Amino acid sequence: MIPLSALNHYLFCPRRAALIHVEGIFESNEHTLRGDIVHEHTDLRGYEVRQGVTLLRALPVFSVRLGLNGKCDIVEAEPARAISNFKSQISNFRFLKPVEFKLGRRRRWENDDAQLCAQALCLEEMFGIPVPRGAVFHADSKRRREVEFTPGLRRLTEEATRELHALLSAGPERSLPPAVFKSACQECSLYEVCLPQVTSQPATLAQASRALFQT
Ligand code: SF4
Repeated sequence: MIPLSALNHYLFCPRRAALIHVEGIFESNEHTLRGDIVHEHTDLRGYEVRQGVTLLRALPVFSVRLGLNGKCDIVEAEPARAISNFKSQISNFRFLKPVEFKLGRRRRWENDDAQLCAQALCLEEMFGIPVPRGAVFHADSKRRREVEFTPGLRRLTEEATRELHALLSAGPERSLPPAVFKSACQECSLYEVCLPQVTSQPATLAQASRALFQT
C-alpha cells in the first residue's frame, strides 16, 4: 500500500516522492508546518451532523485494486434512509463527497486534484457507490473549490499511481529521478537536500563533484 500523500508528492515532483519514500528523507519548512496546523482539526477522528449532512472526519480509506491507503480530511455523507444508530448508517450511504484541506489561496493544482480523486476511488471501492465529485477547501482564502472526477482526472490518477508503484518497488538500487529545476522548487522542503540548481545540470554536478571529492 502506498500513502495517498505520496501520490501528491509524485505529481508535484517524482524526485521528491523518491527522496521521501525511497531514501527516507523528510525536512520541514514553512509550508509543511503550516500544512500540519491546517490539518490539526481534521486529524481528530469523529463525526458530526450538520443540516442533515453527516461529516466524517479523518476517515481511513484504502483501495486494494490501486494499492493505496490514507485518510480523507472530511467526507460529507448522506444516509440512504434515516437510522438512529450511526454504526448502522455506515453501510447505508447514498452520497459521499471527500473534502481535502489545503494551504494557500483558491487555485487549481493537478497534484491536489489527483489526491482527492484517489480518495474518491478508495471510497467507491469501499462503499460500492459512485463518488462523482469532491472539493478542496483552501485555508488562506477560506473558499472551497469543487472538483469533478472526470474520466481524464481518473485516468491521470490511476496512471500516476501505477508509475509511483513502479518507482517505489524498484527500491534504492534504482537511481533517483533527475532533478528538474523549476519555480516550485523554492517551495519544496527538500530544496537543500536536492540542490536542484546543481543536480539538474550534469556539467555543474560533475564540476561540483570534482571540487568536493578530488581535492
Ligand atoms: S527541489 Fe525541486 S527537483 Fe528537488 S525534490 Fe524538490 S521539487 Fe523536486
